[in-house]
Amino acid sequence: MSSRQRVPVAVLGATGTVGQRFIALLDRHPWFNPIALTASERSEGKTYRDATRWVQASPIPKQVADMRILPSEPPLEAPLVFSALDASVAYDVESSFATSGAVVISNAKSHRMEKDVPLVVPEVNPEHLEIARGSRYAPGAIITNPNCSTIGLVMALKPLWDRFGLRRVSVTTMQAVSGAGIPGVAGYEISDNVIPFISGEEEKMESETQKILGSVQSGGVTNAKLALSAQCHRVPVVDGHLLAVSIELERKTDREKMIEAWENFTAEPQSLRLPTAPSHPLRYWHEDAAPQPRLHRDLDGGMAVSIGRLRPCSVLDYKFACLSHNTVRGAAGGALLLAELVVARNLLQGVAKASMPTG
Ligand code: NAP
Repeated sequence: MSSRQRVPVAVLGATGTVGQRFIALLDRHPWFNPIALTASERSEGKTYRDATRWVQASPIPKQVADMRILPSEPPLEAPLVFSALDASVAYDVESSFATSGAVVISNAKSHRMEKDVPLVVPEVNPEHLEIARGSRYAPGAIITNPNCSTIGLVMALKPLWDRFGLRRVSVTTMQAVSGAGIPGVAGYEISDNVIPFISGEEEKMESETQKILGSVQSGGVTNAKLALSAQCHRVPVVDGHLLAVSIELERKTDREKMIEAWENFTAEPQSLRLPTAPSHPLRYWHEDAAPQPRLHRDLDGGMAVSIGRLRPCSVLDYKFACLSHNTVRGAAGGALLLAELVVARNLLQGVAKASMPTG
């Protein structure tokens, strides 16, 4: 497939943990072609190979290895911009790209809760994307990918929310070290240890879940009425966030119907056959000791969420375990799928889905 047919894209923060995942996943992506990479002033002017501490299992793709790192400022000749910027700088940089007319798909927390900024998991609330059409940045846009733990949680909750309703959710996370970026948590601090604090994470899980499960009204989102309590922990796992979830349902049901709701769950990315969409977004594992990060995080290229251990809860109604890959589904992979949905819904000026190559 000729690279001229693909949409030119930029990756902001291309040298970090999430930026590297973007680079690996964009290699030979059928719709998107990386033409510009940015990072901090420390990296500017260096080749990508020299600027990055590459920690992916596959080699640096040849197409980008010798690209020079550019400043994180517009213009970059790319209508679509993926942001993997550190949150301390993301707000202003993403705003200036969107104001210049680009559609920015962001992994940072900075804009997520703004009224005219969609916060979207493609299988859960694709209709929220329409908010972007009336945003202050139009014809540009900022579209946000939720926090990495929130994504796994809302994907597991969505079929239950739709079929049975939810009143209360309590979630305890066990989060991988890659979630802390590069260089991240010191080996000395995390080895032989669990750290019961991740700054801002519990608040993000609680507020983002309510926005994602909310409904679009008057050009914004009315939050879902759902009580949610999160407790977040860093554990010595490289990739994959495991969640222990307890739920109270609005309408009582049995275990078999809940498993059936998960196993039959399919959504817009699957019906549109988007290139990064997993064929089955949720997989229920019947084995006693599943899911586990090392065994199950790479399911469907890291894009599927694994669920297991559904059983009655003596405080709420039911409890279960849920696992998702934090830098793939929880960051770069989720953002790519979001961008594919943006193209499919004709939200990217001048690029219609009909003009996209099929593979
Ligand atoms: P990271 O490894 O620390 O990478 C941060 C990136 O931002 C690097 O490319 C860095 O460039 C760049 N940067 C730092 N300061 C900058 C500045 N002043 N101007 C321009 N660029 C600057 O972080 P990460 O884990 O990849 O996370 C990136 C974003 O995604 C964060 O907002 C994070 O909260 C979010 N996120 C992360 C995960 C995850 O699992 N890791 C999941 C979901 C969302 P240099 O290399 O030049 O310093």
